[in-house]
Amino acid sequence: MNAKRLLALVVLLTTMGSLAGCGRTFLIGRDQEIQIGREAAEDFERRNPVDRTSERARWMARIGNRVAEAAQPPEYPYEFVLVREDVNNAFALPGGPIYVYDGLIDTLEADEDRVAWVCGHEITHVRQQHAIQRVERAMGAQLLIQWLLGGATERDIATAVAGLSIQAYSRSNEFEADRLGVRFAAEAGYDPTAAIPVLDTFRELQGRDPSDFEILFHSHPGSTDRRDAVIEFIEENEYQGRYYP
Ligand SMILES: [Zn+2]
Repeated sequence: MNAKRLLALVVLLTTMGSLAGCGRTFLIGRDQEIQIGREAAEDFERRNPVDRTSERARWMARIGNRVAEAAQPPEYPYEFVLVREDVNNAFALPGGPIYVYDGLIDTLEADEDRVAWVCGHEITHVRQQHAIQRVERAMGAQLLIQWLLGGATERDIATAVAGLSIQAYSRSNEFEADRLGVRFAAEAGYDPTAAIPVLDTFRELQGRDPSDFEILFHSHPGSTDRRDAVIEFIEENEYQGRYYP
């Protein structure tokens, strides 16, 4: 074991108890976070029909990049990639890769304000490190220690991350992503009230299509709670738009 890893292990063992619920990642640094996300993205892209070149893919990426600029710092290498599948979903991997499905864009009637809020929501899962914290929690101490000792590779971790996409975020993570999504969309010049019709759509779809994992799968918090919280945030910040005058 080299000195750096030994030190990391000591720190890990002495601080683990107090870390629970502390909110920021501690064990995984920014570079590793980005690396883990990249590996998981490669893994995802081997198995799914991704699209970076069509007109719709470039349109969606332009919206995402504009919203991402409003969300900096902290800096992450965001990338917005279309997935050519008729699924109502979008999700983020740690460190920057964000995937939006064709089916969701259709459902949102390819409305740029609505897509901007979805991008802002997913950006928040990266920026506030919800995505990597979920990885840390799910990996648990055993895999982390193994990795620190050199017994687990980044690919093992990436595989663990890829499987995580089907797990829900916590209630507070979702509310934060909804609120900051509104803020970043507004700062990027999109109509921040577009969050309201998106959440209405989710509520309609929720009963129909439980296979959709990130946005729609959540039974907690319910879409009604999320809608109420978003309206409260819009009022507090005096945001205006087509859907909430
Ligand atoms: Zn979310």
